[in-house]
Amino acid sequence: MEPEDIGDELAEVLIGESQLRDRVRQLAAAIDADYDEPPLFVVVLKGAVMFLADLARDVPQSVEMDFMAVSSYGYGTQSSGVVRILKDLDLDIRGRHVLLVEDIIDSGLTLSWLLRNLSARGPASLEVCALLRKRDALQVDVDIRYVGFDIPNAFVVGYGLDHAEKYRNLRCIATLAPERLT
Ligand code: 5GP
Repeated sequence: MEPEDIGDELAEVLIGESQLRDRVRQLAAAIDADYDEPPLFVVVLKGAVMFLADLARDVPQSVEMDFMAVSSYGYGTQSSGVVRILKDLDLDIRGRHVLLVEDIIDSGLTLSWLLRNLSARGPASLEVCALLRKRDALQVDVDIRYVGFDIPNAFVVGYGLDHAEKYRNLRCIATLAPERLT
């Protein structure tokens, strides 16, 4: 879906499709340079799926991946701080080099909870690759090794990110028109 297809529902395109492609390629190159073998990509559903699909395909070696689903937002747009595992990993990550692939870091509450949860499973290493970070919104100190873009503190959709399950297939990252944010 292109922004023109739903023009009046969006406020502003923050990151266009080609900017996303270029940055994801750079992140994949950085990951490839930093590890001898690609780490296990642990992916948080559903917002990170588009990012994962592009990131993993840009790595020039075989990448293993596993999926987790957690709830943190429901249908609103504010972080609840309450995290619940809806789907756990299939793989045992003990002794593995793990890269947590995240869509967006807002307050950081979900991420810090996930890092505590995954660390307790004894991985050899645990790093984070997040497509987006809202710098001004961070409420906890979390170390994020790879960041795609720092964005303003606004609710965004597209490239996997939803509002009430809509807009995930939008090719860019955009803010919603205010009347959509109810
Ligand atoms: P945090 O716990 O860091 O406040 O929130 C992280 C999670 O909230 C993200 O993984 C994402 O699911 C959701 N989230 C935070 N900000 C946004 C946003 O601007 N747009 C969308 N669609 N989801 C967001």
